[in-house]
Amino acid sequence: MTSRLPACRETLENISAYLDQELDATACERVESHALGCEPCAALVSGLRTTLGLCRRAGEMDLPDEVRRRARASIQRLLGGGTPAGD
Ligand SMILES: [Zn+2]
Repeated sequence: MTSRLPACRETLENISAYLDQELDATACERVESHALGCEPCAALVSGLRTTLGLCRRAGEMDLPDEVRRRARASIQRLLGGGTPAGD
């Protein structure tokens, strides 16, 4: 019931990399274009975009811990659980 398309999983993993400021512009564009056709991913991307300006600012800004934590929780939820990559 919670199975995700591979494209979603990849997108969520890219967003996760984004949170670590490890996402390059090309991957970021793929996240954006996937989100155009996928509501759950779009919701996550749109939250980040509002707060931070997703691709525009990729790798440039310091993410507030609160934003980062909330986004990670959403990613975990969308991926259907799994092990958080503890700090
Ligand atoms: Zn998706």
